[in-house]
Amino acid sequence: MSPDLLEQGSERLRSASGPGYGRLVQPGQLDLAHGRILYLEDVSVSFDGFRAINRLSIDIAPGELRCIIGPNGAGKTTMMDIITGKTRPDSGTVYFGGTINLLRHSEAEIAQLGIGRKFQRPTVFEAMSVFENLELAMQGARTLRTSLWGRLSGAQRDRLAEVLMLIRLQDQMNRSAGLLSHGQKQWLEIGMLLVQDPRLLLLDEPVAGMTDQETERTAELILTLKGRHSIIVVEHDMGFIDRIAEKVTVLAEGAVLAEGTLAQVQANDRVIEVYLGR
Ligand code: ADP
Ligand code: MG
Repeated sequence: MSPDLLEQGSERLRSASGPGYGRLVQPGQLDLAHGRILYLEDVSVSFDGFRAINRLSIDIAPGELRCIIGPNGAGKTTMMDIITGKTRPDSGTVYFGGTINLLRHSEAEIAQLGIGRKFQRPTVFEAMSVFENLELAMQGARTLRTSLWGRLSGAQRDRLAEVLMLIRLQDQMNRSAGLLSHGQKQWLEIGMLLVQDPRLLLLDEPVAGMTDQETERTAELILTLKGRHSIIVVEHDMGFIDRIAEKVTVLAEGAVLAEGTLAQVQANDRVIEVYLGR
C-alpha cells in the first residue's frame, strides 16, 4: 500500500465512520416519534441567482423507500447535497428524526449520524481488493493505518460476510476492485455504505450504465435493504423505478411537482408535460 493510496483513502473516508467510531447518535436515540426520519421544509438554494431548489418540502418515514424522479437540472442531486451537508441552503429546515437539525452539522458529522450517500459515479479504490475496500469503509479513516493490517472483530467479520453476500461479490472478494464490471463497482460502493450501517441511504442514479441484468439485481438488492434502512433513490430508469417503487416524488425546477404511486404520477398531466412526455 503506497502512501499515496493511504492519503487517498484518508480523503475518501474523511466523512466516513464505522459503527462505534464516533457515532453521534446510536440507532435507538434517533427521535422517530413523529414518524419521520427525514424532514425538509421550505428549503431553497440559489447558485449565482439561479434557484436550483425552490421552497422544497419533503418527508421520509422510517424504513421508507422513496423514489425521486424528474428532469435533468430539477435539483435532485442538489437535494442530496443539502441533506448530506455538502451544500448549505439559503433558507429552510432540514431535520434528521425529530430533533437533529442537519443544518447545524458538518458533512463529516452527518455521515457519522448515519446518513450514507452514493454518488452517481462509483469511487471505489481500484488497486485494492473488494474485501479491503469494505474493510476500510467499515473501520473508518481514524483507524485507516491499522485497519489494513489489523483484525476485525467477529461481529465485524459476520457483517462483512453478510454484506458481501447481499452485493453478490462473495466470489470476487480477493479481486482488485479495478477489475470489476461497472455494475459490480456500483454494488461494492453500496456495500461500503452498508458496512457503516446507515439509517438513511441516499442513492443517486444507482443503475446508470448498468446492463439489464445488473439493473434487475440492483432492484433485488434495494428491495432486500428496504425496512432495515430508509432509502431515497434518484433514477431515470422507469422500468427500475416500477420494480422497486412505493411512493414516488417528482421534482421539477427545485420543487415537488407531484407525489404518489408511480401510476398516479405517470398519469399526472404536468408530469407528462415536464418530464415523461419529452
Ligand atoms: P439533477 O440532479 O436533478 O439533474 P442538479 O441538482 O444536479 O439536478 O442541478 C440543479 C441545477 O443546479 C442545475 O441547473 C445545476 O447546473 C445547478 N447546480 C447544481 N449544483 C451547483 C453548484 N454547486 N454550483 C452552481 N450550480 C449548480
Ligand atoms: Mg443529478
